[in-house]
Amino acid sequence: MAGTGSAKLDMGGRPPRLLIVDDEPGILDLLRRRLEALGCEVAVLPGGSGVVGHAREHAPDLVLLDVMMPDVDGFTVCQQLKADAQTRDIPVVLMTARTEVASRVRGLELGAHDYVGKPFETAELIARVRAALRVKHLQDQLKQANARLERLATSDPLTDLPNRRTFDDQIFLEMERARRSGQVVSVIMLDLDRFKHINDVHGHQVGDDVLRQVGRLLAQRRRVTDLVARYGGEEFVWVLPGAKAQDAVELAEWVRRAIAEMAVETPQGRVRCTISAGVATYDPAEHGPVGATTVLETADMALRDAKATGRNRVVFREIGLEPGEPAAAEDAALDRPW
Ligand code: GH3
Ligand code: MG
Ligand code: MG
Repeated sequence: MAGTGSAKLDMGGRPPRLLIVDDEPGILDLLRRRLEALGCEVAVLPGGSGVVGHAREHAPDLVLLDVMMPDVDGFTVCQQLKADAQTRDIPVVLMTARTEVASRVRGLELGAHDYVGKPFETAELIARVRAALRVKHLQDQLKQANARLERLATSDPLTDLPNRRTFDDQIFLEMERARRSGQVVSVIMLDLDRFKHINDVHGHQVGDDVLRQVGRLLAQRRRVTDLVARYGGEEFVWVLPGAKAQDAVELAEWVRRAIAEMAVETPQGRVRCTISAGVATYDPAEHGPVGATTVLETADMALRDAKATGRNRVVFREIGLEPGEPAAAEDAALDRPW
């Protein structure tokens, strides 16, 4: 018969992965041949016990699941698949000889997508497989679109680092954590020196390349518990949970030197740039309950001190220091206005 029945099954350009579970070898064999002929990659299991493990490892697009099996029955397997976050969204089509309403309802209530009664008409079974795969494909596309949107909303497209919005959410959580655990947390604010000049002389594209390269350097050096974000145009922020003032200043100093030594290749030759950095450290035992804003403002004041005292340097500032009081200039590097 012509129509969709003989059309190849497809998951947007790749073959669908099916797992068929039945204790009758004849059924496994028949379904495997029919579904492979329709373009599917088919795996089979003779019982229910290995299904969840297989599904976690191979992420099938669909599980065709016999209900009556001697080891673990299909209802139990279905329940296990639906209880596991990693396998929850895989559609399950139950194959059952129990055609009475109660058992169909039970299967659907346990999260099965559909069922076919045994003995089944192969054409009907394939039609149901096709329908289930269509839903799975749409669901996959939706998940991908959501992941893309999530990424767009939370990261900065130029450097791929978390954006300001994500940073504002995360710093709040970091400060909460620090207050609860009593652990210190340090913040480094970094700003490229005379960046406007780089744009003016070499063009915006080269400016973008410099920002990307700085972002990459920060991303490569951070620890998994650190938070590095693009804070503004040519400003980055690095949060270091557990890092004491001296560790944070040493790291900032390492970054300053690494960036000063780095060169961005451009059609007009190598472009160099420097950064200034301000460091602040919050110690719950010493400072009491202080908000994220205070810590960030302190790091920002230190950054402004670094700019005012010559750029290409790291300055640490104590939280609670009155404005105007001198902050420690950590590095007396020469100012090199590029
Ligand atoms: P300072 O040493 O005082 O920080 O001087 P500056 O020139 O770096 O600071 P200013 O705030 O005067 O200028 C920042 C420049 O950064 C101006 C702006 O056009 C540029 N900028 C901001 N975001 C981007 C971006 O995404 N790409 C490029 N190419 N430039 C950017
Ligand atoms: Mg059976
Ligand atoms: Mg700048």
